Amino acid sequence: MAYYFGKTKTEGKSNQKQLLGGKGANLADMTSIGLPVPPGFTITTEVCDLYYKHKQKLPPGLMDEVRKNVAILEKETGKKFGDSKLPLLVSVRSGAAASMPGMMNTILNLGLNDEAVVGLANATQNERFAYDSYRRLINMFGDVVSGVDHEHFEVAFAKIKKKYNAKVDNEVPSEGMIELCEAYKDVYKKDYGKPFPQDPLEQLEASIEAVFKSWMQPRAVKYRQVENITGLLGTAVNVQSMVFGNMGDDCGTGVAFTRNPSTGENKFYGEFLVNAQGEDVVAGIRTPLPVAEMPKWNKAIHKRLLEIKDLLESHYKDVQDIEFTIERGALYMLQTRNGKRTGAAAVKIACDMVKEKLIDEKTAVQRIPAGDLTQLLLPSFTPAAKATAKKDGKLLTVGLPASPGAAVGKLAFTASEAVERTHAGEKVLLVRKETNPEDIDGMHLAAGILTSTGGMTSHAAVVARGWGRCCVAGAGDVQIDEKARKIKVGSKTFTHNDVLSIDGSTGEVMLGEIATQEPKLSGDFATVMGWADKYRTLKVRTNADTPADAKRAREFGAEGIGLCRTEHMFFEGDRIVAMRAMILADNLADRKKALKNLLPLQRKDFIGLFTAMKGLPVTIRLLDPPLHEFLPHDAKAQGELAKELNVSPAFVKNRVAQLHEQNPMLGHRGCRLAVTYPEILETQVTAIVEAAIACVEKKIDAQVEIMIPLVGAAAELKMLRDQTQAVIDEVKEAKKFTGKLNILIGTMIEIPRAALTADQIGEQADFFSFGTNDLTQMTFGFSRDDINTFLPDYINNELLAQDPFQSLDVTGVGQLVEMGVTKGRSVKKGLKCGICGEHGGDPASIKFCHTVGLDYVSCSPFRVPIARLAAAQAALRAK
Ligand code: ADP
Ligand code: MG
Ligand code: MG
Repeated sequence: MAYYFGKTKTEGKSNQKQLLGGKGANLADMTSIGLPVPPGFTITTEVCDLYYKHKQKLPPGLMDEVRKNVAILEKETGKKFGDSKLPLLVSVRSGAAASMPGMMNTILNLGLNDEAVVGLANATQNERFAYDSYRRLINMFGDVVSGVDHEHFEVAFAKIKKKYNAKVDNEVPSEGMIELCEAYKDVYKKDYGKPFPQDPLEQLEASIEAVFKSWMQPRAVKYRQVENITGLLGTAVNVQSMVFGNMGDDCGTGVAFTRNPSTGENKFYGEFLVNAQGEDVVAGIRTPLPVAEMPKWNKAIHKRLLEIKDLLESHYKDVQDIEFTIERGALYMLQTRNGKRTGAAAVKIACDMVKEKLIDEKTAVQRIPAGDLTQLLLPSFTPAAKATAKKDGKLLTVGLPASPGAAVGKLAFTASEAVERTHAGEKVLLVRKETNPEDIDGMHLAAGILTSTGGMTSHAAVVARGWGRCCVAGAGDVQIDEKARKIKVGSKTFTHNDVLSIDGSTGEVMLGEIATQEPKLSGDFATVMGWADKYRTLKVRTNADTPADAKRAREFGAEGIGLCRTEHMFFEGDRIVAMRAMILADNLADRKKALKNLLPLQRKDFIGLFTAMKGLPVTIRLLDPPLHEFLPHDAKAQGELAKELNVSPAFVKNRVAQLHEQNPMLGHRGCRLAVTYPEILETQVTAIVEAAIACVEKKIDAQVEIMIPLVGAAAELKMLRDQTQAVIDEVKEAKKFTGKLNILIGTMIEIPRAALTADQIGEQADFFSFGTNDLTQMTFGFSRDDINTFLPDYINNELLAQDPFQSLDVTGVGQLVEMGVTKGRSVKKGLKCGICGEHGGDPASIKFCHTVGLDYVSCSPFRVPIARLAAAQAALRAK
């Protein structure tokens, strides 16, 4: 149940993260490679699992094992638990397999009591320090274990500070600290009903249990949800002998990254506080100094840290995020883990490490979370707009560039306000003094985060970087009045209605909305994309309806259009009028007349698309949505339409009523439209073929794929395919075209029945494209337009791990995809298969697509680079 680490023996290994948690495994590992780690032991995550399985009771025998390990620890350190001469103090630290910074609890200085504190004072010749440690223990233990309100301690502390005329904690003298401990014990007793426990083992047992409890506290549960962390047993508990950063000015504590986590620059990067204990750095109570300034304070320690940077990087072959403490000039390592980094930093670090021969290309490709590329594809402020804004005096202040990106929004002062206003459609910046783990909802939804205290490693900074959310931290000039919903910067005041722009790459805070621009993808980014292309086998296409989108996607590396939704072409300008005329026509002649007006417009669109994508395949889906979607539904708009079409308002109203359906998504749409109104198919195909011929004549290589949507039976496809082929032949004939056209006729597999009968459908199709949006909708019976009314409850109750419209349900819908591919290819060897649902840009879904042997994925232009990288990762992982 417990694994020891220290000079006596080290039982844990770095690959035991599931069992020992990341912190525990790496403490053992650092001990093994000879780094100075205070000895201790790790209680496994299995114990946490047992704790919850047995109605929240510590398993029998655990405390015996704890006592045994404490005895080894006592022997190794020469100190004794609760001793009045040389007391052993420990920290009790949480630590799960996945890092959850600040989400669970840690207790320091455990083992102090009224006797041991005297021992500690004597042994260290430092009474103030001893009582400072004791009051921290009573406070932390009270807070975390016994649920005493932190405020009560603060009130007691304020009284003492006042009495001794001290502005900050450090100015309270020794007597004050002694008084404070007495006051804290009173607070504890009054609030909790029992005195602060004097028995160190009792303290230890209660703390171990408290850490297990913190695994299920709401903020930890919420964090795992947001981060998609599932399948863990629980948290481990690390009991570790204390070292002290708060013994005097030759002591300190800090956190650092072996490289810059925002930019990736290969430069040791961190912050430290002199004469302080652990949590002080993260909590943002005092503002820490950058590590670069450490040589002024202690040259040797700085040098040693730089040595450790190299050692850790060559050992873990990745950037490390470390915690360290200096006790009387001696450096101790308290934690190391792979450092969270921005997408930009991930790309740069991967490229640099390949150059440094720390890792190879394949590792580099696998190292970058594909989804994080989004951040590189994020907008920034256009330099010109920013320069103008600054010239106009719009620059209010500069904080720390905590997480890059450009964010514009109105001010929201609490996390819940940010959530509400974002849901209501506003763009907001969450403005807080500092954030804490309870704010993560609001942080997640806000366009950006602005804090007035706290450093580059504060909670806000770390969390925002992990998500790629723009964040400016520690903007000290910003005075926040949460109650009044106002901030003051210098002499200016802003309210919840004012718009600010924040630049997470520079820390600038500016007034008003500043224009943003799209990023350029070159340098390291291009290198990584090159590697990805080398290793992937899946092709990546894009979903695009306009030449502009198509061009953009090509720049991002798209290898074709996997889905052009023709209906989007009908909304622009006057086209909607022609479209509506077509839909409202209640006889064939009128409909044909209206279609005739639409034809040249469509042809032009297709010529544009084929030209933009020349040489690459373009899949065009025939009209798919129910017709009523194109019609106005309120009386006023219907009246206007009637006027425009020169018919009576009653006629429009009637026709709209006629087209109304109870379940439009299961109604008259997709290929069913073509069955009823063959003239629509005829017009669209004519436009496509004429466009293709026009291109061929201009020597533009058009690769056309006509896609018939919503097919559920081979007979449907056969009929429509024959019609399509007939139109192709007619147009060629009419145009006297004798050259070669590259036109395939295929279908979407998006109705479960189509997947089930894919062998029959395959006979009629030149290609399949899985429309996983509809396929998910129909497989689950979840309306994708209404799912948000119940999805949150499904996620909260863990009935679904995630939104199946965002990440493909491999277990269910995936079976249909796999069956479709297998059956289709059983009748047509090598049948071209792709996916064009939203899932085509989701890394986990892409992995699945690779596994079932699809030829390509298709996603929005913006996600093409992500898909290229995810496809490479899928290919490399499969090997
Ligand atoms: P978190 O997971 O929230 O970072 P930790 O368990 O890492 O919590 O503890 C927070 C801080 O407490 C550490 O960064 C370290 O500075 C301090 N700390 C923990 N254990 C010890 C110890 N044995 N000696 C000195 N400081 C410690
Ligand atoms: Mg930590
Ligand atoms: Mg569909």
